Amino acid sequence: MMNLDRLVVASHNQGKIDEITEMLAPYRVEVLSAKALDLPDVEETGTTFAENARLKAEQLSLVSGLPCLADDSGLCVDALDGRPGVYSARYAPNRDFNLAMDKLIGELRQSGSKDWSAHFSCVLALKIPGEACRFFEGRVDGEIVPEKSGDKGFGFDPIFKPKGFDKTFGNFEKDEKAAVSHRGRALAKFIKEVFDAD
Ligand code: IMP
Repeated sequence: MMNLDRLVVASHNQGKIDEITEMLAPYRVEVLSAKALDLPDVEETGTTFAENARLKAEQLSLVSGLPCLADDSGLCVDALDGRPGVYSARYAPNRDFNLAMDKLIGELRQSGSKDWSAHFSCVLALKIPGEACRFFEGRVDGEIVPEKSGDKGFGFDPIFKPKGFDKTFGNFEKDEKAAVSHRGRALAKFIKEVFDAD
């Protein structure tokens, strides 16, 4: 267990910030976001989730002088050879996820594949000034559905149905999503290591 009383979440994505803040609420840590602190956006030049998470955590920890937790995540679709993957945020035309979901369903229809299985991946990078970066990973398997459903969550949530459920993430409450999602699973590992709790 370590003493971590302030933590910057290295993200400008409000959906991610909300999920991480909510999961960390029971622990004695003040969560600040890069968005609220007006820290710069970090260019994601890496080719893996871990590389991009490390870039964000290290750069924003350097700028703020504070411990930083960065999330890099994305949706990997089997029939599209794992795309959009690390490029998930950039897949959305004008950052419009309604259009991004239409585009993805269009690509899947065009592929001719009947297998619409997919997974979300998340890598969290924790950078504490003066220490090496640490990584925590999570993944959730499921499938893409042809009709959007639900208005909860963010990004591709309305078209992703996790395995073992008959509704999309768009219909999950925050705590319900956290229990099974890629981010929830990665955060659970982070919480176990940092706060020595389950
Ligand atoms: P990043 O900021 O480069 O990590 O972008 C991650 C992108 O992946 C987001 O903009 C979403 O498109 C997608 N994504 C990641 N996690 C989720 C999730 O929990 N639900 C829906 N979409 C997600």
